[in-house]
Order: sequence, then structure tokens, then C-alpha cells
Amino acid sequence: MDSAATLNLFRAAGALLEGHFKLSSGLHSTGYLQCALVLQDPTRAEQLGRALGAQLKAHGSNVVLSPALGGLIIGHEVARALGVRAIFAERQEKVLALRRGFTLSTSDRVIVIEDVVTTGLSTRETIEVAKAAGATVVAAGSIIDRSGGTSNLGVPYHSLAALTLPTYEPDACPLCAAGSPVTKPGSRV
Ligand code: ZN
Repeated sequence: MDSAATLNLFRAAGALLEGHFKLSSGLHSTGYLQCALVLQDPTRAEQLGRALGAQLKAHGSNVVLSPALGGLIIGHEVARALGVRAIFAERQEKVLALRRGFTLSTSDRVIVIEDVVTTGLSTRETIEVAKAAGATVVAAGSIIDRSGGTSNLGVPYHSLAALTLPTYEPDACPLCAAGSPVTKPGSRV
């Protein structure tokens, strides 16, 4: 599945809207992305996991690690495609950690999977969780790369599609300046 096919899957699911949006942060943007809306369909989730898994297979991992919540479903689907186990890290007192009896050891070769990489911060934190447990992180992957190539994860990184959605302060928004009406994502009109 190439970048265009991936983004079309998102558009078909209403998971990628293009226009002029007011985000929950208050910023304005030319687009709105919500991976959960495409992943709610198990067939699409499996399809995306298979496509991402195919790009990552050569790294020879034996476990997929994802940060909760965003990485859970796609991490599980990539693990299904690779035939390896899927575990996740979650925040306890703001610190990302393995819980629920999940373990990693020095023999584990980990792939870290996210839904979207924007700054790369949570991906890097997840990589550190695996390293702290003594495991080797062989690669990282996400469905969408919103980093503009700036995520700098320190391991090979694969995504199904790159997407740049600029955000603006409302008083500096060129769409507002052009007189375009702003809408809230999710509100049907
Ligand atoms: Zn605006």
C-alpha cells in the first residue's frame, strides 16, 4: 500500500479531513487527522498492519512495543502480520512503563509502533522503555509520519504515508485572513 492509497483509506473513513479546522488545542489547521476513525474497522486495521509489517519484516524483530493508547491497535496488527507478540507501555504518574506483567529481556529485538509520529517524543520514550529493559530496538514504524522528516528517532523508521498539516494561531491564520469559515472537526453540517 503506497502513500496515496493509505491517505485515500483515511479519507474514505473520514479519518482525514481537509479544509479549515479549529482543533481542540484552539489552533487552526488545514487538516484534521484521527487514526482511531480508520482503525475502528478491523479489516482496514489489519490491512494497514500488514502493509507496515511488510516494510519492517527485514529488521527481524520478535516483539512489537507500542505506547498506549494510540499505538495499541496498529501495534497489535503489525505484530499479527509479523507473527510476533504485541505488548504496550503506558503512563503511570506521567512516566511511560511496562505494566500488566509485560517483560522484555536482552534477547528481545523490538519494533516500536505508533499510529502517528509528530515530534517523535513519545516514540523516543517508548524506545527508552525497551532499552531500559535491556532489549534491542531494531526499528520504529507508524501509519502516518507528521514529523516532516524531523523526528530523529535514532533507529530505522518506516511509515505508510507522510503528511504535513500546518497549524496556525487563530489571529495569524491565513485561511481566516482569506475569509474562509472555520469548522470544528467532528461536527457534521
Ligand atoms: Zn483559521
